[in-house]
Amino acid sequence: MDKNIVVLPGDGIGQEIIDSAIRVLTKVSEKYKHEFQFEHHDIGGTSYEKYGEPLTDETIEACLQSDAILMGAIGGEKWDSLPTHLRPEQGLLKIRKALNLFANIRPIKGFAPLLHASPLKESVIKGSDIYIVRELTGGLYFGTPRERRDNGNLVVDTLLYHRSEIERIVEKGFESAQIRRKHLVSVDKANVLESSRLWREIVNEKSKDYPDVKVEHMLVDSAAMKLITEPTYFDVIVTENLFGDILSDEGSVLTGSIGMLPSASLSPTIGLYEPVHGSAPDIAGKGIANPLGMILSAAMMLRYSFHLNEEATAVENAVEKSLEQGYHTADLSIDGGKQVGTKEMTDIVLSNL
Ligand code: NAD
Repeated sequence: MDKNIVVLPGDGIGQEIIDSAIRVLTKVSEKYKHEFQFEHHDIGGTSYEKYGEPLTDETIEACLQSDAILMGAIGGEKWDSLPTHLRPEQGLLKIRKALNLFANIRPIKGFAPLLHASPLKESVIKGSDIYIVRELTGGLYFGTPRERRDNGNLVVDTLLYHRSEIERIVEKGFESAQIRRKHLVSVDKANVLESSRLWREIVNEKSKDYPDVKVEHMLVDSAAMKLITEPTYFDVIVTENLFGDILSDEGSVLTGSIGMLPSASLSPTIGLYEPVHGSAPDIAGKGIANPLGMILSAAMMLRYSFHLNEEATAVENAVEKSLEQGYHTADLSIDGGKQVGTKEMTDIVLSNL
């Protein structure tokens, strides 16, 4: 298989961990006889320094021409005082819109050697394996009008969804459940919101196309509680933008370290893969960042953009084995384990691959 991958290291530790992903993908290509070409471009503060803007049209074009995109992280104090449209975060929002990345996927899985670091009791979190499918380009974050009126004393945000936007994310939820444990929880607030009532209608309609998937509706407040009282209850969760933002962040702390979590943002034709964490300016340049969330993001790319399931599983198993051997970066702790830096952690994953 021959694939062209656009690489966007971004800022801070993004510049360090991206190399880990490239090294792992290169090893996969050698082992399984694929050709991966890597084309580097800039995003965030790094792009601002070079081109005066956080994302250039050339980078967007390169992404559109690629088979998949791998991103590190963006942001840093250095650029915090810039006008809003020049800040690194705008690069991220712009690329999501430009590439129509409407589905954000966050798998949340507890690795056995790390469960003791969860804020939940080990007995509660053990065995949890959750997959959150969040709508990313619609709803309250994008609807207009969005403004202050009456001298700033009246405020309006708009929650706007078109049927087609709900249909495509709900389909993504069903498809995901179908290749996992076939249990879909659709999260809404249908007791209050009209948009949720349409959402529920569409989920019920679509469920007829996926008879093998058990689907249930859950109000967002109940879902927030159940995520911490019984995380093992969930397989796939599908929800709209705002609820998904909050629930996926709640979910991301359950397993103990943000450095471990991968994500994918998908359009109908392309995927962007990045770890859940940010650019971690406090540890940037020290060579101690945890590369595993980035490496697991590369595994997601293999699975979802290239349909290379065996290769993706091999990478995930290599990560798990490295932790079981007791190796970990400074953000994690493993009883009797050995603390290593970014490069060494990557070497260990490679040797287990
Ligand atoms: P952060 O995720 O960068 O860091 C939070 C804490 O987690 C820090 O203590 C950091 O050292 C630690 N951490 C994060 N990733 C780690 C890793 N791989 N290994 C070891 N430790 C890790 O969040 P923040 O500090 O709130 O934000 C820093 C910058 O990142 C800000 O500019 C923010 O806007 C940006 N950000 C970017 C993204 C993204 O690129 N998608 C996401 C979140 C935040």
